[in-house]
Amino acid sequence: MRKPLIAGNWKMNMSMNEAKDLVVAIMGIADGTSDEVLVCPPSIHLGMLAAKAAGSDLKLGAQTMHQEDEGAFTGEISADMLKDYGITHCIIGHSERRKYFNETDESVNLKLKKALEKEIIPIVCVGETLEEKEEGKAESVLRRQITGAFMDISGEDASIVSVAYEPIWAIGTGRTAAPEDAQKTIEYIRGLLKEEYKNTVSEKIRILYGGSVKPSNIKDIMKQKDIDGVLVGGASLNNEHFKEIIEYK
Ligand code: PEP
Repeated sequence: MRKPLIAGNWKMNMSMNEAKDLVVAIMGIADGTSDEVLVCPPSIHLGMLAAKAAGSDLKLGAQTMHQEDEGAFTGEISADMLKDYGITHCIIGHSERRKYFNETDESVNLKLKKALEKEIIPIVCVGETLEEKEEGKAESVLRRQITGAFMDISGEDASIVSVAYEPIWAIGTGRTAAPEDAQKTIEYIRGLLKEEYKNTVSEKIRILYGGSVKPSNIKDIMKQKDIDGVLVGGASLNNEHFKEIIEYK
């Protein structure tokens, strides 16, 4: 049985005080659910928020990390630094990182390997652009992203990874994939993972949906059989909205 994961990606939002208040509010909700609840704040807030959330069920994740252990990589943070602060998860290869920070399938694969080596749970993002969707290329793009991300990763390691299917045309646009369409695509992604690994592995990998998830569509999304959770951007910044999403049951 895959435990659902409800994850919030704050991106570059929230002042120090707003971040503290939001985490305190979410801690109370996370402690009352059987799903895993995660928030991924800007890295500068991680240490402070980890101290706040200590002892609660709320997990904290980073929005990215570097693939090297240390060195001359100005502005970057390493897996060991995340571990030092008790950060358990990390988003890898978000479409905004791919678009604005030149992340590629190759760098995603290296980051994934480093996260697994350091026992950080990775959430690997994949998804097609609107143009790729309209040109009928979504499946080939997803195949390339999945095989690239999981290259030379053992089945045992792969089973720890979560994948987030985030169609780029649905991120921050208010336009959600129809839950049935998201289910079909996520089933396709699970099929790709089955090609790479044994059934026992592909059945363990959580696959989330992301893209304009909100209180009004969470129930229908979570009803789909292959969807094991959500990665939420905008709606995770609002305490009431994120609460409704976490409490979808
Ligand atoms: C995201 O950035 O991962 C995301 C899904 O954003 P939003 O929910 O705002 O579309």
